[in-house]
Amino acid sequence: MPLVLKKLINNNNLMRGKIIVFFCLFCSHVYADNDKVMNEFIDQLMSRMTLKEKIGQLNLPGAGDVVTGEASSDVSPIRFEKGEIGGLLNLKGVDRIRAIQEAAVKKSRLGIPLIFGMDVIHGYETVFPIPLGLSCSWNLEAIKKTARIAAIEATSDGIGWTFSPMVDISHDARWGRIAEGSGEDSYLGAQIAKAMVEGYQTDDLTRKDAILACVKHFALYGAPEAGRDYNSVDMSRIRMFNEYMMPYKAAVDAGAGSVMASFNDVDGVPATGSKWLMTDVLRKQWGFNGFVVTDYTGIPEMVAHGVGDIKQVTKQALSAGIDMDMVSDSFTKYIQEAVEKGEISIDYVNRACRRILEAKYKLGLFKDPYKYCDPKRRSKFVFTKENRAFARQIASESFVLLKNELNLLPLKKQGKIAVVGPLANTRSNMVGTWSIAARENSASSLVEGLKSAVGNKAEIVYAKGSNLMHDAAYEERATMFGRSLGRDQRTSDALLKEAITAAQESDVVIAALGESSEMSGESSSRTNLELPDAQKELLKALLKTGKPIVLVLFTGRPLVLDWESQHVPAILNVWFGGTEAAYAIGDVLFGDVNPSGKLTTSFPRNVGQVPIFYAHKNTGRPQVGEFFEKFRSNYLDVSNSPLYPFGYGLSYTTFSYSPISLSRLAINSNQTLTAKVTVTNTGTFDGYEIVQLYVKDEVASITRPVKELKGFQKIYLKAGESKEVSFVINSDMLKYYNANLDYVCESGEFEVMIGAHSELLQKAKFNLQ
Ligand code: BGC
Repeated sequence: MPLVLKKLINNNNLMRGKIIVFFCLFCSHVYADNDKVMNEFIDQLMSRMTLKEKIGQLNLPGAGDVVTGEASSDVSPIRFEKGEIGGLLNLKGVDRIRAIQEAAVKKSRLGIPLIFGMDVIHGYETVFPIPLGLSCSWNLEAIKKTARIAAIEATSDGIGWTFSPMVDISHDARWGRIAEGSGEDSYLGAQIAKAMVEGYQTDDLTRKDAILACVKHFALYGAPEAGRDYNSVDMSRIRMFNEYMMPYKAAVDAGAGSVMASFNDVDGVPATGSKWLMTDVLRKQWGFNGFVVTDYTGIPEMVAHGVGDIKQVTKQALSAGIDMDMVSDSFTKYIQEAVEKGEISIDYVNRACRRILEAKYKLGLFKDPYKYCDPKRRSKFVFTKENRAFARQIASESFVLLKNELNLLPLKKQGKIAVVGPLANTRSNMVGTWSIAARENSASSLVEGLKSAVGNKAEIVYAKGSNLMHDAAYEERATMFGRSLGRDQRTSDALLKEAITAAQESDVVIAALGESSEMSGESSSRTNLELPDAQKELLKALLKTGKPIVLVLFTGRPLVLDWESQHVPAILNVWFGGTEAAYAIGDVLFGDVNPSGKLTTSFPRNVGQVPIFYAHKNTGRPQVGEFFEKFRSNYLDVSNSPLYPFGYGLSYTTFSYSPISLSRLAINSNQTLTAKVTVTNTGTFDGYEIVQLYVKDEVASITRPVKELKGFQKIYLKAGESKEVSFVINSDMLKYYNANLDYVCESGEFEVMIGAHSELLQKAKFNLQ
């Protein structure tokens, strides 16, 4: 934390008792929950504000705890007193937050409370799986509950605003931040976006445990060229609206109180300075009425984008529709002069200031600036037993069983089990990227989790086997921000030998391999998506021992597992499962929980297939069959299909699907039809199945995807049990953005598909008349 902030907190006692007259006036207001009263309140407040104070509301400096770029935040105490700061970013600790809030409220002329924001991305101190993992649970209620718990914990510790949900759709596994979103599908992404906003905000923002959501990163941040973070995005409007925009809109429709602009440019205009995005689409088209914050140094970055000098881009951002400037102090440095010189209308300042004051009002901060600052709530609600129990449950739901030859899994709790790999005995890596509020080492390592799972029924032996990769400098880059794996200084041979001995002496080997948590996330793009060299060598050597090998794969993105899928008998993809991951992995490996997660992102056969996604177009020369044919849209060296498709995931049991029965073969735009299948658990374990509904628009005025997810149900079937699953289809579900960007459905034939994943589907056809 910067010294100045420490000083401010220490000096805070001096401020106590000094009550500002204006603040008292606010307190005596009757804060009825309606717009008229709010507007009058804000009108009155703004009539007292100087231009400088208004601009101060637009300023969100960073507290210095988490730095992800070249921030130039000035958080001198005097600035709080002068009203030059509207909120603070990523400061942790209810006492520290209260001290600063008191400075703003008691020492500034108008006593306007600050808003404290933080990246509460997948949980607060109780960390849930990374968002990509969470999405693989396809459990909307549970995902909503993760957001609710995160909100309860964060608000108990002083935080009133979270920079979540991150809803960027991505078709590109090279992009490290694919870990932070919900995968490749905009329908599923939209459902999750809505669930998270509802979980965070509830339907009453004045509640003490409601946190303001921030949808990010608007827009299209998940589609950077070459999968390189922050890179340019250039795509047709048709693709944009049909494939990428839906989750942002769903979050806005669910009432998200704020939106974060993305770093990238969109068709030549940096999003931060795009009036089309921030005003025309977001506000005029979608009716958004919250406020927009930049992502970090989004404003000065426009200079590097090459669209103007700092003064010019600062004006551009404000007039485009940005309301709050994160960490760059550009608004505070340049806007006053620009207004005074008549270069930009004061209306833009008023507009932005009003939107921020409205958010504070809606949160009830004027009524009680300390609503989030009750230390009793902190000790009662944060990192509780109940929250951790739920984290364990949802972690096991996020895992995806990719392969299970000869039912190697579940394992028996008996004999000797070797746990091998650079990710087997680390605590810091378990929680995954962007978990800044997590208590250090609060998660158990896999070895610890498995020891507790087997108790005295089996023996667990551990050997590291290899470092993360041979190249020490790469390992350093891949384990930044306190996530070091502690590089082992022994030679590769010595590490390997120890692991082979452990394997030979054991009945079964659990290989904990994959990515370190910081190999995905921000600024962690990769071009080679295979297991790092040293780990692949280790895996090959382990397989040579002839012992049964279970690959427990840690990753924040789809990896290339072509070789592994052919040689390793069992692969359980566990992403990064959060605080309780180690125990959840034990639950699944030993069969106390039957895995049910299904992929929300396609796993490519090799990087050359990327971008790869199930909802692609057919082309005029589609591939027929699995492999190459001359003059067709395919590759000489590899099939078009992914290794593991969207929606795929195994269980310890098996499910069969009956053919689809349709209630009618044609509907008009006011009618519905029901598509039914019977799903049967044909195996010996009880378990969950995620039944997926896809639709294909056979003939349309523009080319359409080969299929699109339109619904899903997660059902529980006991061994031998059957259930009828039905989906109601209406014409709204058949709509898309046409060449004029009108959202329409067109009459004609549609194919309806229901099944276990995007490539294993029952099919039927109907007509829209
Ligand atoms: C990230 C955002 C995050 C912000 C504040 C940026 O680097 O792109 O997702 O919310 O930092 O921490």
